[in-house]
Amino acid sequence: VGDRSRPPRLPTGLVRALPATVPFVAPEALERRRGRRLKVRVGANENAFGLSPVAMAAMRASLEQAAWYCDPESHDLRHELAREHGTTPDHVVVGSGIDDLLGLVVRTFLDRGEVAVTSLGAYPTFNYHVAGHGGTLHTVPYRDDRRNDLEALLDASRRLDARLLYLANPDNPTGTWRRAEDVLELLDHLPDRCLLVLDEAYLDFALPGTTPIVEAEDPRLIRLRTFSKAHGMAGLRIGYGLAASATVAAFDKVRLHFGVNRVAQIGALASLGDRAFLEGVVAEVAQGRREYEELARGLDLATLPSATNFVAVDLGVAELSRTVVESLLEMDVFVRRPTAPGLDRYVRVTVGTRQERGDFAEALTRVAARLDRAWLRHTGRPASPAAG
Ligand SMILES: *Cc1c(COP(=O)(O)O)cnc(C)c1O
Repeated sequence: VGDRSRPPRLPTGLVRALPATVPFVAPEALERRRGRRLKVRVGANENAFGLSPVAMAAMRASLEQAAWYCDPESHDLRHELAREHGTTPDHVVVGSGIDDLLGLVVRTFLDRGEVAVTSLGAYPTFNYHVAGHGGTLHTVPYRDDRRNDLEALLDASRRLDARLLYLANPDNPTGTWRRAEDVLELLDHLPDRCLLVLDEAYLDFALPGTTPIVEAEDPRLIRLRTFSKAHGMAGLRIGYGLAASATVAAFDKVRLHFGVNRVAQIGALASLGDRAFLEGVVAEVAQGRREYEELARGLDLATLPSATNFVAVDLGVAELSRTVVESLLEMDVFVRRPTAPGLDRYVRVTVGTRQERGDFAEALTRVAARLDRAWLRHTGRPASPAAG
């Protein structure tokens, strides 16, 4: 400080112009801040049911070779993924999660100053990468505060000659989804130079008919999938993209070749072979969603339909959802809420284990009892400081 002989090393103009952001406040950060552990961790859409025991065993054994680098081509995993999707490995790119792959997409396809389009309040990592690469982000409000507005997204992309259009389907933070034919319709009207970045992190939880069927060489889109959600491997950091071979070849020029960890490669491959685990998770998640919907109904609260492992509970007004999140945290229950206008009245709760669902239900019921009932019934009146 103040040492003139050592002037600061300045970041690039682009980085200097960026705001300091913390896109996600981690549950660990909340624990440190409060000096107390969380009891119910249902805020980050992690898999409450852990991961496949088959994958676990494979990874334990793989630790013996953790001194070795990963296979930079992810050969075995890409072959298995290609087999599963009825394509060839040159259509598959592996990265350390969708978050990593989103950065790769932006770096590969978006020049400085070019436009990327997304929904206002959509999954934020895409925006973060666009900003970091000097792109121009344009946002489009959700339709009826609940669904990605495909028509408006398309319209903005055409009007602004966008290079990237981001769509999470099923969506986070709402949990809603658009049908495959609607996504196909969007694709058919996409401007010529625009790539659809289709984030399908929750596809395992969705009904058939949610993802469009297109040719492997279709240059108009990339689908992004992850092992973080249904496969329960969020901390291992591994995901993949399915795209035209020319798109995958372009990634190969700039991707971080040793960025995927070896243990995760082996775990992901083993997890693909454990259908029973995956089906068990999907069934338990569906059951948990129904329980949350019932719980909300019993408290006079609406929920959004969900094709994910979480449910958005509608608290009617933003002030109330904020109060609920804070009150739950005081009871050591971690949930999140969106902050974008229109979505900020929801509380997003991940399907937990049976025990966690029970604890959440008890906590929410106690919080609701302390709130003004009239307010709870969505009168839309401005918030009063009703919460204790
Ligand atoms: C959880 C989530 C991700 C993160 O995926 P990783 O593979 O863990 O990076 C990406 N997109 C959406 C919509 C998500 O909800």
